[in-house]
Amino acid sequence: MQVLKMFLGKYRNMGSVDRLIRIALGLTCIAIGILASDVIGVPLLNLLLVIFGVVNLISSAASVCPAYAVCDISTVESERLISETDDGDMSVIRKIQNKIVMFAAAIVVIVLGIFSIVLFHGAHDLAMSEDSLRGEAAALLAIELHKQNSRDPGRLSTASTLESYAEMAKEVDLVIFHDRNSQKIDSSFQLLGKDPALVEEFLASIDGSELSTGEIERDMLMHNGKGLLRSSLPVSDNTWVSVMITSDSHSGSISKLLVPKLLIVGLSVLWLAIWGVTYGLKKYSKQTIKAARELQYRSTHDPLTGLQNRIGLDEVLHKRIAETDDMKNGFAVILVDLVRFRYVNDTLGYELGDQLLVEVADRLKSISSEFYSVIRMSSDVFCVICPCEHDRANACRVANKIQDCIEAQKQLGDIPLNMQTRIGMSFFPFDSKTGPELVRLADIALSQAKKNNTRISYYQAANDSHSVRQLTLLAGLRSAIEEDELTLVYQPKVDIQAGTFVGVEALARWTHPTYGFVSPMEFVSWAEKSGLIDKLTMWVLRSAETQSRLWKEAGFHIPIAINLSPVNLSSEALTHLIEELVKEGDFDRGLLELELTENAVMEDPVKALQTMEKFQQLDIPIAIDDFGTGLSSFTYLRRFPVSNLKIDRSFVMDTENEDRDAVLLRSMIELGHNLGCVVTAEGVEDAVVLDMLKQYGCNYVQGYGVCKPAPAQEIIEWYLSSDYQGQRLAA
Ligand code: C2E
Ligand code: MG
Ligand code: MG
Repeated sequence: MQVLKMFLGKYRNMGSVDRLIRIALGLTCIAIGILASDVIGVPLLNLLLVIFGVVNLISSAASVCPAYAVCDISTVESERLISETDDGDMSVIRKIQNKIVMFAAAIVVIVLGIFSIVLFHGAHDLAMSEDSLRGEAAALLAIELHKQNSRDPGRLSTASTLESYAEMAKEVDLVIFHDRNSQKIDSSFQLLGKDPALVEEFLASIDGSELSTGEIERDMLMHNGKGLLRSSLPVSDNTWVSVMITSDSHSGSISKLLVPKLLIVGLSVLWLAIWGVTYGLKKYSKQTIKAARELQYRSTHDPLTGLQNRIGLDEVLHKRIAETDDMKNGFAVILVDLVRFRYVNDTLGYELGDQLLVEVADRLKSISSEFYSVIRMSSDVFCVICPCEHDRANACRVANKIQDCIEAQKQLGDIPLNMQTRIGMSFFPFDSKTGPELVRLADIALSQAKKNNTRISYYQAANDSHSVRQLTLLAGLRSAIEEDELTLVYQPKVDIQAGTFVGVEALARWTHPTYGFVSPMEFVSWAEKSGLIDKLTMWVLRSAETQSRLWKEAGFHIPIAINLSPVNLSSEALTHLIEELVKEGDFDRGLLELELTENAVMEDPVKALQTMEKFQQLDIPIAIDDFGTGLSSFTYLRRFPVSNLKIDRSFVMDTENEDRDAVLLRSMIELGHNLGCVVTAEGVEDAVVLDMLKQYGCNYVQGYGVCKPAPAQEIIEWYLSSDYQGQRLAA
């Protein structure tokens, strides 16, 4: 019993295709065994066939068929492959399999169709040639009898002649001797003209001109619904004998001829076709399933790191949300960004960049027991999905572990490299209950981490431009600009090689009555999106101009740098205002500088170049701000009339460690000099970094280590008490 159970269990997973084939096999065997018993003629063979057929029928009903397995046409293998694949693959594979089954069925039908046509034509030709032979033999016999009768007229009555005569009478419908003009010329064979109407019809149908004197002529005549084959042979100069026999090929007797052959050959072909197709199907479906899985894999995985890709992320999140039934303990979406990865590509080459990404992926895989999945989202952004309790402690622990693991020093060729990461997180179900939204929120948190230069940032509605706070602030920005609610602070810039104060950067500040301090990073980007940016920049320009005049009156000629937004580049009105301010002498020559972020310039380099050339004609120095964070094309950079390159603060902070990013920083300073620019380092927070920058040949620095952004009156106090008093600002 146990053995039987095991045996049955082996085929328990029979698919519908298997079952159909087993039923076809069973019916075929029973049909041959019972119906064609007289054809096979070996009772034991018939019996075995019937038993085989019945076993197949029963086994298909019971989804078990040992005999079937012997034939090796089971598709259990493909079922196994299917069951191995993920849920996501299933539908694709099922669809492919269904198509293959349809295709196989079509092939079987075509094979059978062609076979039937060929067989019918073969049988028809066979019947025709048999008819002809019979007709010819009868005609020859009639001639012989006629000759004998002519020589010996009494012979027709002899027993043997009568016998031959009667024999012929069974075979043929009519024997007639006639001349070219269709005249009956011998009545001795009247007996054979069984049907007088046929005689008349026959004689009327003969076309004497067609009759030859040497060859046998054949023709087909329909009489009373049956086909009659006429065979005419010349007997003497103007005498022919014509014999008419019922044609097998036209009388349905063809089926009689074919039934046994059809049964055996036809059913064998049917079975062979099904077997062949199924066997091919099995082989093909294995390959197709493999190919489909490969394709599925490729479309959802990143070829470089082998991690799942963005498409894979949607599936992962979908599955995770469906499986998370405990709404208290959800999961966290952690986005990990590699800081300044692009510079690794630019300075060290794509090959090393790729190596670094593979290394990061391997490091993430090495701690994969900590989380559910890791995905490569885009070039240098990875996404980790990890379990998280109500207090989110686990997610924070995992985020820290990820940072420790990725930031461990790495030797890329000869270069020691320390990757830094920024992390943004969102939580299911607290922040959102849908996958795409969770990713969006984690991305907002990541942007926040990058902007604020913090290592880890959680999603906070306050940072989301669609939150109530954002909408309120956005609405208040216009009146803040129009009603002078904004203020300007100034951050000094010093020449570290000469030890002099060289100017300030004007930075806008907004303190909202309800929400308090609002970062310029926030409101500048809303101003850009809402079309208020020109108004804002004009306000800054006018306020800075007023301050410049006040300082001048107090005896201080302090150059002021104004930040321009990319949107400003296409504003005629703004360019016009700048032109006016400079030409009318509101800003003394050289006291106004403009800063354009690297991204702004590269967004539309042609437009940027045109605008910059206008400013150049007005003798306004231009600085590229936040250099290193955008996608610079060095070809363009060389063409821009830029006098100052401001290295973004993210390159400068944390550089006290000799190895840490020093290579990049040094090469950026050199690059700036090679482009003919003065290089300014932003974000200098302490003396160690300042000394290092001095050593590297950096010209200017700006940062909390020198002076924090401060109101105008404090700038003079700072200046007077600082070590940076030199010639440059003398009244
Ligand atoms: P930015 O032009 O690169 O300005 C430098 C930013 O770095 C300022 O942030 C400044 O406070 C900060 N910073 C300077 N030294 C240090 C340092 O040692 N450590 C740290 N952690 N930060 C330092 P702020 O004022 O928040 O401005 C941020 C950005 O907002 C500016 O970056 C600029 O792109 C934009 N922004 C500010 N005011 C204006 C404006 O009036 N117009 C336009 N279009 N953009 C502005
Ligand atoms: Mg700036
Ligand atoms: Mg900057």
